[in-house]
Amino acid sequence: MIQIKQSFFSYTLIFFITCLFSTWICSMGVEAGSYPVSVSIKPDKIPLGGIALATIKTNDKTKLLDVKFLGERIPYYLDPSSRNYFVLLGAGLDCKPGVHILTVAWQGIDAPPGLYSHKVHVMARTFPEERLSVPERMVEFSPKILERVLNDQKVVKEICNNISDERYWRRPFVWPVKSKILSQFGFRRIFNNKPRSPHSGVDLRAPEGTPVLASNYGKVAMTRDCYLSGKTVILDHGKGLYTLYAHLDSYKVTEGQAIKQGQVIGLAGSTGRATGPHLHWGVSLLGKRLDPAELMALLGN
Ligand SMILES: [Zn+2]
Repeated sequence: MIQIKQSFFSYTLIFFITCLFSTWICSMGVEAGSYPVSVSIKPDKIPLGGIALATIKTNDKTKLLDVKFLGERIPYYLDPSSRNYFVLLGAGLDCKPGVHILTVAWQGIDAPPGLYSHKVHVMARTFPEERLSVPERMVEFSPKILERVLNDQKVVKEICNNISDERYWRRPFVWPVKSKILSQFGFRRIFNNKPRSPHSGVDLRAPEGTPVLASNYGKVAMTRDCYLSGKTVILDHGKGLYTLYAHLDSYKVTEGQAIKQGQVIGLAGSTGRATGPHLHWGVSLLGKRLDPAELMALLGN
């Protein structure tokens, strides 16, 4: 009984301390019009699979401590010319449409810390169905193949969840091949009458042997022959942003290599689960697959 009373007392104390601390943090610098930070977002409404650029303006006496969105810490950049901070926000396909809060924590010089909240609208989007026919071994897997597929997915996920401190990318991003989109991001795919994962990128028309260009500066994070995506290159553009190039016929780069925007990283082909030669191009931000067409609309040439 004594033990119960003691733990009840401890929890109550911790609860009150947490409440007091939260109130203190939230109330600092929040008198009307006194925020030392302001946020603007472009586009102001993010569709599912979309990407947005949030600009965070501060005065020179304020240092950014932390930016959070959808329960995650978001890496931020300092733009050396404008002295503004900015962050990239992504709404993955699993994101709930509606209003989400972007929070910015700051620390003033000779002033207490503060917290600013900004509403971010995520819009629903409907994706068409797409029916495809491929050899049956590309849809129903034997235990051995399933193990390979799951291992490929694990490796790709681990790479894309890694956040490099440095930013390699700069404006603008370029299309890896200049052609037409054959299949868009998010299409609800049905292979041989069996529903499978939604399309995680865009398919670009690319005859066999077409040079595939790096969309931006970065480092080669992976070259791997995956069962489904075939010969695949992943480029790390820094701060959690990656681009992925799949179904290649061959690689022109090696893992760890520094890459320039527009550099040939491989030749297009039809390796893996492909109905013919094309380039599957994907974008990942903080482990979320986003629509490359949305990235290009925001930061492309
Ligand atoms: Zn594809």
